[in-house]
Amino acid sequence: EAFIPKIIEVNYIEGSGDKRWSSLDFPWTKKLEVNNKKVFGNHSFRPNQREVINATMSGCDVFVLMPTGGGKSLTYQLPALVCPGITLVISPLVSLIQDQIMHLLQANIPASYLSANMEWTEQQEILRELNSDYCKYKLLYVTPEKVARSDALLRHLESLHVRDLLARIVIDEAHCVSQWGHDFRPDYQGLGVLKQKFPTTPVLALTATATASVKEDVVQALGLVNCIVFRQSFNRPNLWYSVVPKTKKCLEDIDKFIRENHFDECGIIYCLSRMDCEKVSEKLQECGHKSAFYHGSMDPAQRAFVQKQWSKDEINIICATVAFGMGINKPDVRFVIHHSLPKSIEGYHQECGRAGRDGLRSSCVLYYSYSDYIRVKHMLSQGAMEQNPMISGYNRSNMSNSGRLLETNTENLLRMVSYCENDVDCRRLLQLVHFGEKFDSSTCQKTCDNCLKNTSFIEKDVTEIAKQLVELVKLTGQKFSSSHILEVFRGSLSQMVKKHRHETIRLHSAGKHLAKGEASRVLHHLVFEDFLTEEVKKSDYGSTSSILKVNEPKVRNLFFGGQKIILRFPSSGKASKPGKSDANPAKGSLTSAKLNLPQVDIPTQPQTEVDLDFSAK
Ligand code: ADP
Ligand code: MG
Ligand code: ZN
Repeated sequence: EAFIPKIIEVNYIEGSGDKRWSSLDFPWTKKLEVNNKKVFGNHSFRPNQREVINATMSGCDVFVLMPTGGGKSLTYQLPALVCPGITLVISPLVSLIQDQIMHLLQANIPASYLSANMEWTEQQEILRELNSDYCKYKLLYVTPEKVARSDALLRHLESLHVRDLLARIVIDEAHCVSQWGHDFRPDYQGLGVLKQKFPTTPVLALTATATASVKEDVVQALGLVNCIVFRQSFNRPNLWYSVVPKTKKCLEDIDKFIRENHFDECGIIYCLSRMDCEKVSEKLQECGHKSAFYHGSMDPAQRAFVQKQWSKDEINIICATVAFGMGINKPDVRFVIHHSLPKSIEGYHQECGRAGRDGLRSSCVLYYSYSDYIRVKHMLSQGAMEQNPMISGYNRSNMSNSGRLLETNTENLLRMVSYCENDVDCRRLLQLVHFGEKFDSSTCQKTCDNCLKNTSFIEKDVTEIAKQLVELVKLTGQKFSSSHILEVFRGSLSQMVKKHRHETIRLHSAGKHLAKGEASRVLHHLVFEDFLTEEVKKSDYGSTSSILKVNEPKVRNLFFGGQKIILRFPSSGKASKPGKSDANPAKGSLTSAKLNLPQVDIPTQPQTEVDLDFSAK
C-alpha cells in the first residue's frame, strides 16, 4: 500500500508584529482598559493580549499560540464581558471548566457550563436560559463531547445565532484537535461543524502547543478562514532546566534535591505509571515530605480531594501521571520533576510550564535513563497510555490510523530522547527549536545544565559533516524526517545496508565517529540556516510528519561557493571529542556511547522504504 503524502495549503496571516492590532484607537479600547482593571484586577496587558482581543473583536478568526501561564483566558473573557451576546467556550475537561467558572463568578461575570454528567433538569434550565430574550450568561462552557453528541445544544446555538446573540466561539487547548499533539481528543476533530454552521461568527483558537504541524492541523480541522496567528516566545526565563541520569538511587536523589533546594515548597513529580506515583509518594512521605499521589484510576472525588489539599498547601508535593495538570492555576509551583521520560518535547514543555507561573525562579529536573525509553516505547505500542484513554479506543476502531498514530508518537518520543542525550546545547534552544522559534543561547545566562557546565568553547569547522548530511538527504530521496536521517548517518541501519552495494553506503554510518549530539546539532543548524527545510506533510490518513528537503540555491554555496560552517563546542566536554566508539552498548548505563540512538531498534515505515531504495539502485 503506497504512502502518498499530500501537502495541504493553509491560509493564515502572521499577526504578531502587525502594529494595527496594538492600536489604542479601537472603539472598545477604553472599555477594555476599565474592565481589565476593575473586573479582572490586572494593571496592564501581557504580551499579545491586547492584540488578540482587538483582532477577535474586529471579527477575524484568530489562532493564539501562547505559553502556559501566558494569560490566554483573558483574551476571550474580557471580550465576552464587553461584547453583547454570549461566548461559547469549548474546553477539554470538566475540572478545568469548573475552575474557570469559579473564577468568573468570583469576578461577578455570569457564566455556566453544560456537560454530559450533569443532572438533566439542570441542563434543561441552562438551555432554557439560553432561549430567553435576556440571557444572563456572558460565557457558556461546553466539552467537545457535548458539541459532538448534543443536537439540543446545536439547536440552541442556532437560535442564539439567529438572534445575533452568539458573539464568539472559543476553542481552548486547541492542540487536542491534532493527532500530532500530545493530548489528542477525537471529539475535537468534529468541531469543524461549528464553522460550517456559523460561518460569520469569529472563532478564537488557543493553545500552548505550537509546532508547525499542530498549527496546520488545528487550522484545517476547525475550518478557520484567513485566520490571524499570534505567537510569542515560548521561552520561560524563570524556569531552570536540567537533565540528570536516573540511577537506582533516584528516589534518594529526588529527596535530596527537594530538601536542598525547595524544602516545604510546592511541586509536582510526574511519573510514568500509577504504581510509580504511589511508590514515589510513599517514599517521599517516609522522608518527611508532605506528598500525595494522583492518577487516572482514582475516583473523581479522591482526585478532587488531593487537588484541593494541594491548592490549599496542606500537601506540597503531588506525584502524578500527566492526567494531572491541565489548567492548573497554582502560581507558586516551585519545581516540576520528571521521574521518567516525557512522551514528547511539547508535553515536557507544557508540564514544566506549570512551574513558576508567578514569574519566580523554579526548577525543572528530568531524571533520564535509557531503560525508561524502552518502557515508554512499549507502553506506546500497547496503546496503554493513561493520559490518553482515547488512544486505545481509537486503535480498536481504525487500524491504519492507529499505525500512523504510533509512528507519530514514536517520532515524538525519539525527539525527547535526543533532547535528554544532548549534553552540549542550551536546553532552552533545544525546546524552542522544536517550536520553530529562533533563540540565542547566550540569553540563557547559565540557567540550564548544559550552559552551566559548558563554560569554554572551541570553534569547529563542521562543513564536511554538513555536506555529508545534505548529500544523504538527497540520496535518500528527500522524503525522510531529520531523526531518520540522523539514524542512517550514525549507522543504525548497518545490517540492512551492508547487503547492498550502493553509493549511499559511503554516507551510511559516515557520522559514526561523531560524539552524541554532534551530528544532530549540525543537522539542526542546517535547518535553522535554511540549507534544509522541514516540510510538513499530511497523509491521506490524516497524520502529519515533517520531511527534510534540500534548499538547492543555499546548498550550492556550501558545495561550490566555499562557504564554511563553524559551530561552537565545549572545549572540555567529552561531547566534542570525536573517535569515541559506539560499540557494545550496555543497557541501563549512562555513558555517552551507551546512550546513542542508533543502538535502538526502531521499526518504522520509512525505514522499510529506505531498504527498498537501497536495493533498487
Ligand atoms: P493560560 O491559559 O495561558 O495558561 P491563564 O489564562 O490561566 O493562562 O492565566 C494565567 C495567570 O495569569 C492567571 O492567574 C491570570 O489571572 C494571570 N493573568 C492573565 N493576564 C494577566 C494580566 N494582564 N496581568 C496580570 N495577571 C494576568
Ligand atoms: Mg488556559
Ligand atoms: Zn541554556
